[in-house]
Amino acid sequence: METKKLTCIVCPLGCHVEITKNDGTFNVTGNKCPRGEKYAIEEMTNPTRVVPTTVVIKNASLSRLPVKTSKPVPKKDIFKVMELINQVEVEAPIKTGDIVIENILGLNVNIVATRSMKSVI
Ligand code: SF4
Repeated sequence: METKKLTCIVCPLGCHVEITKNDGTFNVTGNKCPRGEKYAIEEMTNPTRVVPTTVVIKNASLSRLPVKTSKPVPKKDIFKVMELINQVEVEAPIKTGDIVIENILGLNVNIVATRSMKSVI
């Protein structure tokens, strides 16, 4: 039997959820809606996160461009995702939502710009 106490991050209510795994079945308490149960089971079996970070940008007024993963990625892959993101350099102009890396690590997740930057040239 394995028990975890979590704060649900799906909505601002932040319910304190407790999940117990016993013989392959899950018992979730403390959630005020079904999304909390889904979140707790995912946290127990395959936790994921959206990764916000920056990449180097050339020809812009700032040296780094804010980016994020288009969807949550498994926590176990975040280090490898960051290694690839850290190798990237983009060039202005960039628009919010532009894809900086497509299908990173074959995860069906893109790395996208979260702000626009004009070219200064
Ligand atoms: S369990 Fe439901 S109500 Fe509670 S924080 Fe999660 S999403 Fe919000």
